[in-house]
Amino acid sequence: MCGIVGYVGSQSATPILLDGLERLEYRGYDSAGIAVIASDGSLQVTKTKGKLAALRELVASAEPVGVVGIGHTRWATHGRPSDENAHPHADCHDMVTVAHNGIIENYATLRAELEASGHILRSQTDTEALAHMIEDELRQTDDLAEAVRATLARVTGSYAIAVVSRAHPGTLVGARMNGPLIVGLGKGENFLASDIPAILRHTREIIPLDDGEMVELTADSVRVMTLAGVETRHAPTHVDWDIEAAERGGHSHFFAKEIYEQPDAAHKALMGRILTREPEPDLALDALDGLLASGRLDAVRRVTLLGCGTSIHAAMIARYALERWTRLPVEVAVASEYRYADPIVGPETLCVAITQSGETADTLAATRLARDAGAPVIAVTNTVGGAVTRLADATLYLQAGPEISVAATKTFVTMILTLYLLGAWLGRQRGMLPEAEQRQILHALMDTPELMRRTLESLSEGPNAAALSDAVTLLKDCHSALFVGRGAGFPLAMEGALKLKEISYVHAEGFAAGEMKHGPIALLDEVTPLVAIATASATYEKIVSNIQEARARDAYVIAIATEGDDSIHQHADTIITVPAAPEAFTPLFSVIPLQLLAYHTALARGCNVDQPRNLAKSVTVE
Ligand code: GLU
Repeated sequence: MCGIVGYVGSQSATPILLDGLERLEYRGYDSAGIAVIASDGSLQVTKTKGKLAALRELVASAEPVGVVGIGHTRWATHGRPSDENAHPHADCHDMVTVAHNGIIENYATLRAELEASGHILRSQTDTEALAHMIEDELRQTDDLAEAVRATLARVTGSYAIAVVSRAHPGTLVGARMNGPLIVGLGKGENFLASDIPAILRHTREIIPLDDGEMVELTADSVRVMTLAGVETRHAPTHVDWDIEAAERGGHSHFFAKEIYEQPDAAHKALMGRILTREPEPDLALDALDGLLASGRLDAVRRVTLLGCGTSIHAAMIARYALERWTRLPVEVAVASEYRYADPIVGPETLCVAITQSGETADTLAATRLARDAGAPVIAVTNTVGGAVTRLADATLYLQAGPEISVAATKTFVTMILTLYLLGAWLGRQRGMLPEAEQRQILHALMDTPELMRRTLESLSEGPNAAALSDAVTLLKDCHSALFVGRGAGFPLAMEGALKLKEISYVHAEGFAAGEMKHGPIALLDEVTPLVAIATASATYEKIVSNIQEARARDAYVIAIATEGDDSIHQHADTIITVPAAPEAFTPLFSVIPLQLLAYHTALARGCNVDQPRNLAKSVTVE
């Protein structure tokens, strides 16, 4: 889960590493560190518990000067966050140093062997073993890449690593196995990083390494090879993101910026897919052509949507429409459960793997399992070249632009949109969705960005803004809140609750409104508000009854309702309205007031919105 950055060139490495880490802090922020080979040939490691600001302070008092180095921002798996456990880790002689993202599963055995042969390990991490093993290997070879390769041959687990050694002052070595790592190509300098924003200021030419590959970088050369030592070739990919896109724009937090970017993200997600031909729009998912031509979709009798966290909520929302449009049973599976559940899967199951980062460890493992059982796999991800794309037969990108805030917003809505595109395509392919109905869906999808824009606007002033502020005043001081909905409003309620707990630490749970009376209603009292998704739907009357049941128990009710619904005023205390739209499409913008509720509640409680405690953006560990 950590962020790694590496530099070799002729500029001073320290500022480049610190700047890169700043853009990777979303991946972890328990501790941070850099290691630089100084001009006097010494290895200078500066690392500390806490966020990057603490490291910056330390560096300011004694800035290591050198042209080769590595940096790391940590999300601890083995050993608590502390100075000693911060990366990079060095060997006994401070010769070699390693930054690592992932888990070395056989570290206990390796550590015991190292200690038995006299090595002194200074941390509790799994990572440190690597530095000492490379130290041993360097007694057999003076080639750093060779020593790293020999070390990794004895390692099981997941990793992306960056290694430098003061005996090899112009060389930087990287390797990956189930952890993201990219190479950035410069002129007279080269880079390594966990993610593109870390090096975007310096280069737009990147090579994403594959699992099982390693790289040896000098200022003027890049040698990519497999972990078996066979050289491989990759054409560099040009990244055309605007650097601004990876930064905060005018907003105080990435979370807010990304909420306001949703109309644009939705528009981009549809671009190139819905062709606005006269007189009617047409749907083109070229990315699925190969899979379609393979004939493997003919055998499909069911769909499994795999994901974790917010992806699960997007999948649960899309499931209703997917079943209706394709007439296939759709299962939503939590990847961390699915992978150990001996699932029923084979060529008859279309597996859709949903992961914003493309690197979510549980989703990757569950997808691998489905793929190995013969299931055709479609990846839905925001990360070009992410690991999930290599497991998949086809990939539908979210096209949402980088999402930096740990709590997902625009990737949630673009996941739903992308799954809807897939459902409308598959329904048509299967002859289950009449052309006219598909057109209605395409029109409704095309209306979404505008409906999002209107929702955002209405929340910035007038009665909606006042209602939002009333709701925040209440939520900021409560210990617990319940969110309820029916149909697609049920997973939407879960997503609203997740946002609130993630960034404001107010305990919140989302339930199917009909389930309230089977237990959760016992939690309601005058200090536990109910947030009800009461937008126009086939089950509107039912949810109103559920609201009444809550009010009869003195609960304060905050309702998300449809504009023009005059009757809701009799039932709820605070009402936030959203525009009217067909039921399946409403969650795409009715999530916005829920996101803003979480945001303003977090601000009112003084929470760190973009870096909530204990969390990290992409979860590359189990
Ligand atoms: N296992 C390493 C540690 O705990 C790296 C953790 C990670 O990648 O999140 O320090």
